[in-house]
Amino acid sequence: MIREVDATAEATHPTVRLRARPGLRSPSGDPGTGGGGVRGVPLRRDQAADRRRLEVDVDLARLPCGVCDTWLPAAYELGGSRYGQVGGLLCPCGARLTCVDNDYMRDELTVHAQRAGGPPTVRHLDFRSMFRLEADDLRRVADVTGYDLHERHGDGRVSLLTVVDELSAALAASGSKPASGSQPASETVAGAGVGTGVGAQGLPEVVRRWHELLRVARVTPADPR
Ligand SMILES: [Zn+2]
Repeated sequence: MIREVDATAEATHPTVRLRARPGLRSPSGDPGTGGGGVRGVPLRRDQAADRRRLEVDVDLARLPCGVCDTWLPAAYELGGSRYGQVGGLLCPCGARLTCVDNDYMRDELTVHAQRAGGPPTVRHLDFRSMFRLEADDLRRVADVTGYDLHERHGDGRVSLLTVVDELSAALAASGSKPASGSQPASETVAGAGVGTGVGAQGLPEVVRRWHELLRVARVTPADPR
């Protein structure tokens, strides 16, 4: 199911739920873990990395249309899928959008768009990467700020809004000057096309606040990767 939501809902959402997945190895290529641990072998650094690897479950998102190469004007609630089929809707440009997830977790979404008689387009959203909720991001947050998500919330679920508030408080206590009511400043990705990157307009408000905190804490370098 996919359902349009209003701006009020978007301001308090995305209930990006984070759930630690202890024991799960980081995918290969995860830098900083020295090639991953071997099951049963106590490598402290890898274990720390694993503890901070999270499930990301996104229940509200903005959707890109590959035909007109813009983000749809509204945000959408992502209900569960049935065999990966989340649902369909129409873009104002007339294209028909069909959304597909991976059937068990809402951490990715593939959006097919096509206008009658036109060529098919595909846009893939990787929320973990778009929202900067990857193992490395969380590890750097802990290293730099001392705010350890896993220590705070164990294996439970927590909304990104809660995380933003807690990290904000932690930064304020440490003397950094966060972000209250500030603009999502110097969006390095602002204006980027859907096809080439993530435009700020593709990011929910709470995620933009998260990114701002990452910058304030100097977790995110001034120049993005
Ligand atoms: Zn469109």
